[in-house]
Amino acid sequence: MLTLKDNKIIYKYEFCQQCGACGAVCPKEAISFVELPNGLKKIEVDHERCIRCKRCVAVCPSNRHITTEADDYVSSLTNKCFFLSHNNNDIIRRNCSSGGAVKTIVINGLKQHLVDGVYSLCKTEAYPFAKGMFYTPDNVPDFGDMPNSIYHSVMACTEIKDVHKVKTLMIVGTSCQLYAMERALVGKYEKLIKVCIFCKQQKTLDSTRFIAKMQGAEIPSDRNFKFAYRGNGWPGVVRINGKGLLWERVAALPFGRRLWTVPGCNICGDPFGMEVGADISVMDPWSIHKPNNLGDSLVTVHTRNGLELIAQIDGLVSDEQSYSDVLPALGLDDVWRKRICVPAFKGEQCDEKIKTAVKTEKYQREMLTGIVERLPRMPLLFYRLLNKIEPKSRDKILSPVPDFSDKKQVKVITRHAPSNYGSLLQSLATLKVLSGMGVRAQIINYQRPDERSFEKVKTEAKRKYANALKQLAYQIIRYPIERYAEIRFDKMRSRYLDMTSLCRTHDDLKKLVADIYLTGSDQVWGPMVNGIYDPAYFLSFVDRGVKAAYSASFGRTKFDDATQKAYRQLLSTYHKIAVRENNAVELIESWQLQNCLGRVLDPTLLLSGAQWEELIQVSTHKHKVKEPYALVYQLGNNTLLSDYAKNVATQRNIKLIRVNPFLHQITRGGEFVLCPDATEFLELIKDAEILITDSFHGTCFAIVFNTQFVEVLPAGDTSIRNKNLLEMFGLSNRIVNTLDDIAVAEERVDYDRVNELLDAERKRSRDVLEKILTSD
Ligand SMILES: Cc1cc2nc3c(=O)[nH]c(=O)nc-3n(C[C@H](O)[C@H](O)[C@H](O)COP(=O)(O)OP(=O)(O)OC[C@H]3O[C@@H](n4cnc5c(N)ncnc54)[C@H](O)[C@@H]3O)c2cc1C
Ligand code: SF4
Ligand code: SF4
Ligand code: SF4
Repeated sequence: MLTLKDNKIIYKYEFCQQCGACGAVCPKEAISFVELPNGLKKIEVDHERCIRCKRCVAVCPSNRHITTEADDYVSSLTNKCFFLSHNNNDIIRRNCSSGGAVKTIVINGLKQHLVDGVYSLCKTEAYPFAKGMFYTPDNVPDFGDMPNSIYHSVMACTEIKDVHKVKTLMIVGTSCQLYAMERALVGKYEKLIKVCIFCKQQKTLDSTRFIAKMQGAEIPSDRNFKFAYRGNGWPGVVRINGKGLLWERVAALPFGRRLWTVPGCNICGDPFGMEVGADISVMDPWSIHKPNNLGDSLVTVHTRNGLELIAQIDGLVSDEQSYSDVLPALGLDDVWRKRICVPAFKGEQCDEKIKTAVKTEKYQREMLTGIVERLPRMPLLFYRLLNKIEPKSRDKILSPVPDFSDKKQVKVITRHAPSNYGSLLQSLATLKVLSGMGVRAQIINYQRPDERSFEKVKTEAKRKYANALKQLAYQIIRYPIERYAEIRFDKMRSRYLDMTSLCRTHDDLKKLVADIYLTGSDQVWGPMVNGIYDPAYFLSFVDRGVKAAYSASFGRTKFDDATQKAYRQLLSTYHKIAVRENNAVELIESWQLQNCLGRVLDPTLLLSGAQWEELIQVSTHKHKVKEPYALVYQLGNNTLLSDYAKNVATQRNIKLIRVNPFLHQITRGGEFVLCPDATEFLELIKDAEILITDSFHGTCFAIVFNTQFVEVLPAGDTSIRNKNLLEMFGLSNRIVNTLDDIAVAEERVDYDRVNELLDAERKRSRDVLEKILTSD
């Protein structure tokens, strides 16, 4: 940041956004840049040469002030137009940052004479160390001339003096760069079009070095190494000296967090460039599911000029999206938080709590950065664990971002957090079905601390063994297994589910706002890890709004009188209740509650096979098996299931595959697939010749994909849900009780009849859900 104080230009490194404009506009060449080891530049002012013209101060983006409240900034996005855009040439599309929208606009904007000049970046010899470049219709860049997203600092404005006067000028850059460019280019254009590269932070060179270290590449301390971010479709590959690492993995490293941030980025709360009057801003719609992995750019159009431009560019395929469709990709929680914290970073007057939280974050960041930099190359898993260390105090202080959609808001509490495919996929199905019915649905991200891996393993060790040493041994063996699955599922949850901010306590839950609060599917009303039910799943935190349940389950059949009394009391506050099992209907009716709408399907069964296949299309197909195979998906420990599966595979002379989130099942036979992505899990069931399972949701997916299956019932009264499901579709004959029941596997399921029943059940269940959504 540059200011004039006591007739002297004063520079503050900690607020410098590294745009480079000050040096470019200085008429006396009084400003020079000195490179630091982290790749950033420090500015030095030659006070002898300086004539105090203040041009440097005028262009410096660090001097701008935030003019809109965080809430207003975020809510103004509801009025914008959104497009998923890409270049119509698949090769170009794959090789750009996300979908190639920006380069297509620049290149074809010039070729079609929609603009007379563009100031943007071009690659240099030592790519990715780019520099600014003025392009004209006589000097149109090729797609390969312009860099893909460079996440470390680029002084984009240093070549601004090359721009000569044109009628329509387009400037391309991050929000801070646009601010500086516009001011530095006054008088060089009649009409200005601003294309903002959405940006929440630039990084120092250390982040690049860190990624390289993770890839085992030799990084000289100078800048002579080949590094390329993005490209190769979505999620893209980061390459160093030819070696590649998936972008997704890189983003999960501490690189993706707040380490190694350009100091000035902390005082920037305008990633969309709205406060600099951007016509469009372009980002990566990473959390919106894509029908293929070619990539798309998410274009937010802020002005009429922007809309006209998008419509006219040849070769740009744009598909309009609604606000609610793109909401998960906008990362508004993050944007809103950062904006709120800007005054604290600037040292201005603001809420004491935020000040303290920002201080904590700064301290944590410094500490973590130091640690991470000094660490030797470690397995990726280690860094991912480290990446989970988040400044909790700040998250606690700042309440979640307000939701401005005009659709009815439905917040769903369900068992989405356990590390298993059923929990994840039934939550995903609930969201898909609800949003198909025109409401804005979110999963309440309620995670009981005692259900996270460490506490869970501790509790299980105590339950299994009285001896303290045995407990310890169990924990040492079991914790890494549980934690690995937990990390994988955390990632899948954030990828596939639209969730609220994290709620750990009932007080956190009380802050949520919705029109309808819905208890979702699965064994939400049964005992938790601690052996007792959790009132949160009975919506005990809701004071206002409609309370309803869809496909909720008690999980078991027998409860003592005191529990039944409590259940009756809790459920009497609901407006409408639809449950998953017949025994639940009987229980509720026995309590003489009048709000029960009967039994409905589990949400996974509400989506058709074709709808689930849409998800499989985006799978990496890493575990796709070409030859016929029998698949085991087992939750319990019954050896009958494993032995039966081996017999089936041997008899049919086919491969046996076992899929599971937990490594300890590796010894139970079959080729083991450890914790694949949910899409690959679905693909494995869809393509199996036969599924052998004890899982309720495993059975649901066999039915959805019309896959042949047999079932070994789980022990205890939790098997009630499996029995109910099989009875509903006349499939009780699929149950295997002994090893001799080999005929069960040989007999084929008559899916024509099952599908007819399924269609009728789907219609009935959807009608019930519609009724719930129209409750007042
Ligand atoms: C520092 C930085 C941080 C970002 N953070 C996010 C984020 O948090 N979330 C998100 O969704 N998207 C982010 N993006 C945007 C995203 O990476 C893509 O730029 C965007 O999706 C456009 O993709 P595209 O395929 O249309 O761009 P392309 O057609 O590939 O064009 C890329 C354009 O970006 C320009 N460019 C590249 N690097 C820089 C740079 N450092 N400074 C100025 N211009 C540059 C190039 O000159 C080129 O014009 C960030 C980009 C940058 C540069
Ligand atoms: S005040 Fe003018 S002369 Fe002095 S450093 Fe800034 S731009 Fe250069
Ligand atoms: S933000 Fe830009 S203009 Fe301001 S001091 Fe830093 S490099 Fe110069
Ligand atoms: S976060 Fe803001 S200041 Fe930092 S590079 Fe991006 S637009 Fe510039």
